Amino acid sequence: MTDTAAALSRASKTESAATVEFRGLRRAFGTTVALDGLDLTVRPGELLALLGPSGCGKTTALRMLAGFEHPDAGEILVDGEDVTRIPAHRRDAGMVFQSYSLFPHLSALDNVAFGLRMRKVGSAERRARAGELLDLVGLGDKTGRYPHQLSGGQQQRVALARALALRPRVLLLDEPLSALDAKVRATLREEIRRIQQELGITTLFVTHDQEEALSMADRVAVMHGGRLEQCAPPAELYGRPATAFVAEFVGTMSRIPGDLDGSTVEVLGRRLPVDGEAPAATKDVDVLVRPEDVRVTAESDGATGGGDGATGGGGSARVVATAFLGATTRLTVRIEGGLADATEVKADLATHEAAAFAAGDAVTVTLRERPVLVAAR
Ligand code: ATP
Repeated sequence: MTDTAAALSRASKTESAATVEFRGLRRAFGTTVALDGLDLTVRPGELLALLGPSGCGKTTALRMLAGFEHPDAGEILVDGEDVTRIPAHRRDAGMVFQSYSLFPHLSALDNVAFGLRMRKVGSAERRARAGELLDLVGLGDKTGRYPHQLSGGQQQRVALARALALRPRVLLLDEPLSALDAKVRATLREEIRRIQQELGITTLFVTHDQEEALSMADRVAVMHGGRLEQCAPPAELYGRPATAFVAEFVGTMSRIPGDLDGSTVEVLGRRLPVDGEAPAATKDVDVLVRPEDVRVTAESDGATGGGDGATGGGGSARVVATAFLGATTRLTVRIEGGLADATEVKADLATHEAAAFAAGDAVTVTLRERPVLVAAR
């Protein structure tokens, strides 16, 4: 940590970071139900990402914490205090929006100092504090620039500094990176995370970009239809998704038809244990499989190969496409014959192994021997 950041961190840290609780939040706009009983706790000092498809209620939840929106039912607690009816300007939340929303006629320094001015902080103190914050976000040498003289990424740094200026108890980020190009986005992701950790500020981050959520957050809350599907650290969300929705929304999943029998499922010539609850009503299921759990071998040596402890099995397939991703290459193969006939499956191979395959090749597809998630077909 730099000296400035350390000083600022001391100055900015509230005695202890805040806990935020959403309890049974409901909100409808006409006939559209935006939140359908959202229960979620943001722990002190963590960065929690709200992730989900468009329209699942992420922004509504964030705006409710900011005080811009009010629930039809339920409550919001900050450190145990019910803030549901407290107006936005008394919520003590710093917010950064997708659009930079800076004042165009004010310099970067004056933009950051604006809230302090409204709070009647003296000129010298607010300039000093705004300067420290611009240092923190890496813009210490651009304090006099106006928004139109700054790049999109720089403007968003100013917006972040401005959001932090009043030492808020919670930081709210609403898709702050989505207007930026990929490279700037990646850099700012790391910057925001660094600053958030230095300040230890409880942060709620709304995004529909799973890579962003998984790479930045302590925990990711996946929402669907106004409710919480699962809230877990990134690796757990990816490796042990609680529902088929989470499994398919986070990362890539192929669905392969299988035959359920009690707690096992037969798929591509192999019987695998079912992970978690199996749908009770049907034996016709789809097995959900990650690309790294699919093994592809040349047809001649496929069925008996398997350095993963495979004991045979496997389905005949044909390669339909290969996509170079750097260290790995993603193969798309189409199963031929059997229950899964014509199903397309994604498989990630080390690029040097994938070099052996081209579109049109006949191959054998085997699944790694591990418990699998299943969903009703
Ligand atoms: P996105 O990623 O597209 O921003 P989101 O998950 O943030 O989506 P919300 O913005 O919270 O979703 O919206 C949830 C639902 O509520 C949507 O169907 C949306 O159209 C509706 N909605 C949100 N705000 C309003 C409003 N002010 N008036 C009417 N409908 C609204």
